[in-house]
Amino acid sequence: MIFYVNKINGVMIGRKVPMLPIAVIEKQYKGDKGLRAHEIEHIKQYCVLFVIVGALGSLLTNAAIALVAAMMAHDVAYTVISKYRCWAEVKAFKKQMQYGVSIDKAAAALAEHYRLKLTIEEAKKLLQ
Ligand SMILES: [Zn+2]
Repeated sequence: MIFYVNKINGVMIGRKVPMLPIAVIEKQYKGDKGLRAHEIEHIKQYCVLFVIVGALGSLLTNAAIALVAAMMAHDVAYTVISKYRCWAEVKAFKKQMQYGVSIDKAAAALAEHYRLKLTIEEAKKLLQ
């Protein structure tokens, strides 16, 4: 689910909401189908980990703990594991590129904004 808001934080124009299958995009980018596809990809990633961690958690512990773990899985993995964050962003930028964002622009954003320690050339190779 996508919500459109006036302003996020002055840096980002779209982002997934922590612990929920929801993303917010600034209203001025409402027509940007690529950005929408990028954020929907992150929601899908959240849902996949939610199901996997929720199912494993409910087998190994109680439902309340499993639910909380499932809700936190994507965001914790994204924040802590740089390889997961890189994988998640590469997938999201590849979706965004299907709507016309150039590989140069996507590679620059990937290299500069996600604490991945990538050069633009390395980012480009991941996006090809
Ligand atoms: Zn992203």
